[in-house]
Formats: sequence, structure tokens, C-alpha cells
Amino acid sequence: MRRSQLFVKTRHQVPADETSKSAQLLIRAGYIHKDAAGVYALLPFGLATVEKIKQIVREEMDGLGSNEILMTSLQRKELWQKTDRWDDKKVDVWFKSMLKNGAEVGLGWSHEEPISDMMKEFIASYRDLPTSVYQFQTKLRNELRAKSGVMRAREFVMKDMYSYSRSQAEHQKFYDQTIDAYHRVFKRLAIDDRTYLTFASGGDFTQFSHEFQTICEAGEDTAYLDKTKKIAVNEEVMSDEVLAQLRLDKTKLQKVTVAEVGNIFGFGTTKSQQLGLYFTDEDGSKKPVVLGSYGIGITRLLGVLAEIFADDRGLVWPQNVAPFEVYLARLGDDKTVVEAADDAYRLLTEAGVGVIYDDRNVRPGEMFADADLIGLPKRLVVSKKTVQKNAMELKNRTSDKVQLVEPGALAKTLRD
Ligand code: ATP
Ligand code: MG
Repeated sequence: MRRSQLFVKTRHQVPADETSKSAQLLIRAGYIHKDAAGVYALLPFGLATVEKIKQIVREEMDGLGSNEILMTSLQRKELWQKTDRWDDKKVDVWFKSMLKNGAEVGLGWSHEEPISDMMKEFIASYRDLPTSVYQFQTKLRNELRAKSGVMRAREFVMKDMYSYSRSQAEHQKFYDQTIDAYHRVFKRLAIDDRTYLTFASGGDFTQFSHEFQTICEAGEDTAYLDKTKKIAVNEEVMSDEVLAQLRLDKTKLQKVTVAEVGNIFGFGTTKSQQLGLYFTDEDGSKKPVVLGSYGIGITRLLGVLAEIFADDRGLVWPQNVAPFEVYLARLGDDKTVVEAADDAYRLLTEAGVGVIYDDRNVRPGEMFADADLIGLPKRLVVSKKTVQKNAMELKNRTSDKVQLVEPGALAKTLRD
């Protein structure tokens, strides 16, 4: 991507009501555009980062044998009435609209009901189970308070997966595998060391649901961590009774502010019974399917990562989620410099390295400030000085040490 062709500009000013660090940085660095409170557009860098996050999640969900689909945003009222979740008193985040004929429709805030209704077409016998589907979908929620930029938005991207099992035991097996897959996701996102499997309220069959909570100042939840056991308890279920049940020692727990990046949930068979999702078991009996639901907040993660991986100069992306790997800065428009920088851009692109090529004629200071703000892992500088040495200056975003690299060794040096 050539900077000269990019419409996005970095900026110094942010909207006055944008108080969180992540929202300020993401707006200043040109990753997102604020359209309204809780409504953000993804600009090229933001979109590329979100795609990186999605791809990591996709690979891990595919690894579970789950099938990627894409459901619709328009939802039928009657389905949600069957499960008693249409009423605004039961679900307080609904956006609703109306067809020309006066029929009400809902705008998807979650998808258990339509997906499970759809699965009635495909699940008939025990041979069709277990199975699961997932999607990346834009959810619409009429949140009372939008907060911290993309961390609590009214329109946001979620990965939601749904599992269908024959028995509680079969469900539990998939549920546990999903917990492992989630840990792998957060490891690849470089936040596993600060992300805790957390006992929270809800869960139809078991007493708890599980959240994945990441230690983060801008989070909205409070959890008590057991750092040795690597589990946590959400404040909402914290009691002596629960601690005894989980065999946790109150004196060893640490109270911290966290952000919920994922949530997994067993629905038992209640919803299947309400929606009429049954299968015929091996013995010929008709049984309701056991349902599980597994969310990850994709765009919330964009915010959480920006909160965590930043310094006073800007964003500092871990390699796996950086929208591009290299910020190639061309200093000046001397013919030899242009040629050398164009060559480097071509070399890197051919080697499959993601590059932003800053080919504008702006002051070095402005270019370097932009590179730091945008936060790619590596900065490469081509100038008159480096051309004379037939080399380029390579620097990590996190260190001030500069390394001279010859064009021929560039791709290999980056790989190492
Ligand atoms: P919260 O308690 O934060 O409102 P939730 O319990 O409503 O979350 P789920 O419905 O389980 O969350 O959604 C799955 C995931 O989607 C959450 O774990 C979170 O990461 C993300 N998420 C939920 N609401 C929002 C929102 N308004 N903006 C951005 N991400 C969200
Ligand atoms: Mg919510």
C-alpha cells in the first residue's frame, strides 16, 4: 500500500467525547472513523487489523470442525417470541423495525434463535450430531451507553459459534475443546498471559457461564484472579459459597479491572424445546438437541489490543495482528532514493511481506511520527545516506537500535 494513494490522514485532534486511550489512538492513527456514538467505520488499517484477528479466530474455529456461515441481520419476531426474548423488557438492546406491511422485524443482536431454527432443516437423527456453525457478523445492539470506542459499540463485529449435541456429555466435550481453542486464539493475539477463564453468571445446565476476561484498565468488569490456577471469578458471582465450590482461596485472589473478550454458554435443551429442534436417537426416541453458544468480540479486541499495546508515541502491534509488517519510509525524492525505495517495496511485496510505503514528500520527522503512531512492528528507512551504503535502515518499533540491511538480505532478515 502506497501512502500517496491512501486517503486516510493521521490526525492530532480527536472528538472531545472520546476519552479512552484506544479510541483516541485508533482515531488519530487513522484506523477507525467515528460516525456517531458507538458507531465506527473501519478504515484500511483498522480493517486489515480486524481481518488479521478474524483469520486467527477462523483457523481455530475451523480446527474444531466448525462450519463458517453468514446469517442475516433481519430477524423474525415469531422466533424470538417462542423463546420469550422479543419483549424489550427481556432483552433491552433490541433495534426493531417494520416491514411495509406492518410486520415487525428485529435487527440481529445475537443469533441463537434463527440459527437453531435453521438447523431444524438439517438435524434429524443422532447421526447428524454433534455439529457446529460459526460466523463473523455485525451485531446491532441498542446499548444504553456506548463506551471506550469500539470496546462497547452499538454496531460491532462478533464471532459467534453455536454447537448442537446429542447429550450433555457430548456438549461438554465440545465446550471444553472450545475453551482450549479460545486459549490458543488469545495466545496468538499475544494476550493469553493476561486473559483469564472466568466463572460468571448464567448457563442453563451448569451453574456458571464462562467468560474470557482480559486485564485492561478500560474494561467494564471486575474479576478476582487466581494467578496460579489461571482462573478468575466475576464479581457478579463472587461469594464464599462460590469460592468454596471452585476450591479457591479468598486470600490468594487479586481484584482487577477486566474487559470481556469472549463468552461461552451452555443453553441445555430449553431453547431447542421452545423452537422445536429435536432429533431421533439410536433407540428411536425423540430428544431435544443440546445447544451451546460461544462468542468472541472481534472489534472489541481491536480496542483491547490498542489499549494494551501502546506507548506514548502510539500503537505497538504484536506481529500477529499488525495490519502490515513494515513501514517503509522514503526520505526525499532524489532519483537514486526513489529507485532504491521502489525496489525495496517490490522486493518485500514479492516476498509476501505486508508494507506501507510512505512515498510522500514530507519531512522525516513527520514520517517517523506517523510510523510510530501507526505502530507497525518494523520501520525501514531509505535515504540518500543509506543509498550511498547500498543499504537500508531497519528498526523495531519497540527499540531504538538501528540495523543496516542490504537489499539482497532484506526478505531473509525480516523472516528471521
Ligand atoms: P457485555 O457484558 O460486555 O455486554 P455480553 O454478555 O452482552 O457482553 P455476548 O452477548 O456474549 O456479550 O457477546 C459476545 C462478545 O461480544 C462479548 O464477550 C464481547 O466481547 C462482545 N460484545 C458484546 N457487546 C459488545 C458491544 N456492545 N460492543 C463491542 N463488543 C461487544
Ligand atoms: Mg451486553
